[in-house]
Amino acid sequence: MNGGLLAEIQRLAHDLGYTACGVTAVEPFDEFRRAVEEGADRFPEAAHLYRKLNRLADPQSSAPWASSIIVCVRRYGKYEIPEGLTGHIGREYLCDWHYRECPDHDIRKKMEHALEKMGLRVRRGGVPDRWAAARSGVTRFGKNNFAYSEHGSWINLQSWLVDVDLPCGMPTLEPACPEGCRACIEACPTGALLEPFVMRWDHCIAYLTYDAPEPVAPHLWQRMGQWIYGCDVCQEVCPLNAGTWDPVEKAPWVAKIASCLRPDALANMDEETYRAIVQPRFPYIPPENLARWHANARRALTWSKDPRPDGR
Ligand code: SF4
Ligand code: SF4
Repeated sequence: MNGGLLAEIQRLAHDLGYTACGVTAVEPFDEFRRAVEEGADRFPEAAHLYRKLNRLADPQSSAPWASSIIVCVRRYGKYEIPEGLTGHIGREYLCDWHYRECPDHDIRKKMEHALEKMGLRVRRGGVPDRWAAARSGVTRFGKNNFAYSEHGSWINLQSWLVDVDLPCGMPTLEPACPEGCRACIEACPTGALLEPFVMRWDHCIAYLTYDAPEPVAPHLWQRMGQWIYGCDVCQEVCPLNAGTWDPVEKAPWVAKIASCLRPDALANMDEETYRAIVQPRFPYIPPENLARWHANARRALTWSKDPRPDGR
């Protein structure tokens, strides 16, 4: 089965800057579907958030021509994050490949074009990336549901469906966590992470900062602390991430707008600056909702004055 082609694809991925590249068959993701259904049944208020993922469970239903899934890992835990942003904005959003100036900005397109040049039919996305990565053997799950590589969970995953049978990697579905560890569950500020692998989506700070209906319930709002956009707590406390953030590269695309991203700047930001600088880079909050940024940033400032307003 196409071992030479796989080696060529993995070389290409490596040359483009991905740190790993694996393959899994295009068969349905039954465990993923089960996890989605369990979440929807257990948290009926958030059922719609889980069920919208169901469309990813059987990639072949929308791409009957596909035979294999290629999954690549991009490491972002190598960038220098400007002072004053960590703990307020999720690191992934600061090191995002969506920034035009980021050197990784177009590696997904380049990968896609190169695969097409090899004669493959290709479709980007449309699969549960973390499950595809574990099934292809390039990452393992942590109990916080993040995908872990040798670079910790500070990674992005990208998947492509292709119309060729490639040799599959050995699945790594066993959790990466050391025996007995519950650090992420105990640290989760809102209790969204209830048990190993069980996350109540509508209580997760990431969702609450940019996507949840407003206003956020007061008992959750208080526990969102200094987070303005996203949340990294369950990754920051994780022993699997110890020493994995190694800021060997500058991130000039963040450095140049850092002064606009600190809580004091966001708390009173004017519409023009918001629309020109912040919103295009943090698109989960729409252009017309600067008020959400103001409120999140003002909460972050209040929290700095009284770090435990709810007495926890
Ligand atoms: S991202 Fe934050 S709120 Fe969400 S599960 Fe992790 S620690 Fe909890
Ligand atoms: S904090 Fe512990 S339990 Fe949670 S993902 Fe990391 S190793 Fe696993």
